[in-house]
Amino acid sequence: TMKIVNDKVVGIHYTLKDASGDQLDTSDGGDPLRYLHGAGNIVEGLEKALADKEKGDQVQVVVEPAEGYGEYNEGLKQSVPKAAFEGVDNIEVGAQFEAQSDNGAVSVVVTEVSEDTVVVDGNHPLAGQALHFDVTITDVRDASEEEIAHGHVH
Ligand code: ZN
Repeated sequence: TMKIVNDKVVGIHYTLKDASGDQLDTSDGGDPLRYLHGAGNIVEGLEKALADKEKGDQVQVVVEPAEGYGEYNEGLKQSVPKAAFEGVDNIEVGAQFEAQSDNGAVSVVVTEVSEDTVVVDGNHPLAGQALHFDVTITDVRDASEEEIAHGHVH
C-alpha cells in the first residue's frame, strides 16, 4: 500500500474538537477533505501526524497551538477609534473586516464596541487552542506534476 509522503494527495475524513470536547468542525456528511501532503495545506501538527500512514488508518492527535493556528497574541488585539469605521452600517461584536497592517491585509473580528472605540482582534479564531483531531484516511494517490507545481489538489 501507498504510504503518505510528500507529493501524495491524501483524502481524510476528520472531526475537530476543542479541549472541552466541543466539536468545531467535521467532514462528516460531506466529501473527504483532500490535501497535498508536504505543501502546508493543513495545520503542521496534523500533517506531521499523518506522515507514513496509509489508507484505512485512523489517527487521533492533539495538535498544540504552536503547530496549529498559533499562540494567542495580545498584540493583534487593537482598540480603534469608531471614526475609522465611517461608512460602515453595522459595527457589532462578531463582525469581520479586512484590515491593513504592516504585514498586509489581515482578517479581524470585532470583539468589543463602546461609544467611541471598537476593539478588533486579528488572531485566528482557533489561536491558542489545542486541536483534537480524529482522522480516518480514505485514500492516497500520487499527485500530478501540475498539482505539485501549484501546491494544491485539483
Ligand atoms: Zn492549481
